[in-house]
Amino acid sequence: MRQSSVQLAILDVLAGEGDSHLSALEIYERLKARLPAIAPSTVYRALERLTQQGLVSVSDMGKGVTLYERVGQPLHHHLVCTGCGQVLTIDHSQVGPFFAAIENTYAFRLQTNHLILFGLCRACQAQSSTPLPPEA
Ligand SMILES: [Zn+2]
Ligand SMILES: [Zn+2]
Repeated sequence: MRQSSVQLAILDVLAGEGDSHLSALEIYERLKARLPAIAPSTVYRALERLTQQGLVSVSDMGKGVTLYERVGQPLHHHLVCTGCGQVLTIDHSQVGPFFAAIENTYAFRLQTNHLILFGLCRACQAQSSTPLPPEA
């Protein structure tokens, strides 16, 4: 099978319904349903190339595995709750000015296209709002 057709199939899987952030294993399993002869190494190689080409983002979203997602336009970013695992999506318009300021100040060309910020969502903040111990 041609490497380029595997890459297209991966982009197709990542554009599919449901969770758009998939691990390499999940991508492999979904591809295998369509292309039973495919080898895991072929999938990993194709993912590496797609990442290098900037078509797929690689993120640690706190789940202990690397997650892949198709990079769309406009870009988007996430807030990940470390309490309940909820993932919120942030529009690039909120991050864009920050990225531009960094690039100007440090003459640094950012390659991050999928920013993951960890924290606590509103519900988890309410749950963990036990009063601080009094100061000694
Ligand atoms: Zn995302
Ligand atoms: Zn939460």
